Amino acid sequence: MLLISLLFRKRKELKTDIRSLDLVDIKKFCQENNMKPYVSNQVYSWLWNNFSSSFSQMSNLSKSNREIFNENFSINKITEDFEERSDDGTIKMRFKLYDGNFVEGVLIPQNTRMTACISSQVGCSLSCKFCATGTMGRTRNLSTGEIYDQVVAIANKCKEVYNLPLTNIVYMGMGEPLLNYRNVIKSIHFITSSEGLEMSYKRVTLSTSGIAKMIKRLADDNVKVNLALSLHAASEELRNSIMPIGGSNSLDDIRDALKYYFSKTKRKVTYEYVLLNEVNDSIKDAENLYKFTKHIPSKVNLIEYNTVDGLGFDRSSDKNTDLFMNYLDAKRVNVGLRRSRGKDINAACGQLANKK
Ligand code: SAH
Ligand code: SF4
Repeated sequence: MLLISLLFRKRKELKTDIRSLDLVDIKKFCQENNMKPYVSNQVYSWLWNNFSSSFSQMSNLSKSNREIFNENFSINKITEDFEERSDDGTIKMRFKLYDGNFVEGVLIPQNTRMTACISSQVGCSLSCKFCATGTMGRTRNLSTGEIYDQVVAIANKCKEVYNLPLTNIVYMGMGEPLLNYRNVIKSIHFITSSEGLEMSYKRVTLSTSGIAKMIKRLADDNVKVNLALSLHAASEELRNSIMPIGGSNSLDDIRDALKYYFSKTKRKVTYEYVLLNEVNDSIKDAENLYKFTKHIPSKVNLIEYNTVDGLGFDRSSDKNTDLFMNYLDAKRVNVGLRRSRGKDINAACGQLANKK
């Protein structure tokens, strides 16, 4: 009996997650198993339009076909296992993955603007000195389905709590999206196309710490989303000291990649700049930032830092924040200040870390 259950468990673990397959692959599987060609479309639609979590839910499939799928594939859905609500309405959700790992996603309400902040990796390999996720290292990339599931789960939460639809999606949770390129791009496809949620790509923002080669690839692949570049310092030495990725992706490399991106897409880039007290918030730093922004049409989001215990950084004083902002204003930089959300529950984008 034990042996049988062990074998069964082993077999279950070996099953392929069907959402890692393209429609053509599912078609091929249907053909090989003597199913009608339209079955593949039905399954595909159940998976991506109807968010099915089991083959038994696929009611327009015959029982035998459901069984064949079930014997061969799994559907590795995420499950919500924990949530925290902030006084300002922000909701942080922790998701459990099929293999026991966790990631977090956040719903950020601002009037009728409802933003989902989602993760692309379990942890992150890039170790930015001020970032909670950066202390974790990277365990693995999320699958397309796992990224998509977060959007669906947060959209459901939004409907349930605020009775409003999700309006925006930002890839600003755990992980570096451009280091999980294929799955992130596929998740954007399902979020924006009729094969999935059919949201406008203008409502999707991808944030990157600046992987120059991949920014160029994004331009070549004509991925139509908003691009946010986490700059945080516009002098080489300072940036390298807080963002080790700068060592292999210099500011010159990033600037060239962004110029290329703009030449191809004609889309404005957003620079994100977390204001860290007495680290990157002097007028000289503002001047460097101003110079960096001159190369292509852009806007700047100054971000209030959410202090992470033990990392040794503080948010800038109000005075320095004002001086910094006024300097950029006077230089006619299109600049805004993003206030921290969900402070009481450590729910701000980029502040996520697993506390088990
Ligand atoms: N890896 C990507 C996306 C996830 S981080 C990137 O770095 O862009 C999303 C944003 O949150 C980045 O701009 C990041 O620098 C910022 N961030 C990280 N830690 C933060 C903190 N404690 N407070 C405010 N913003 C933070
Ligand atoms: Fe990774 Fe982004 Fe955090 Fe840097 S800021 S460690 S790239 S998640």
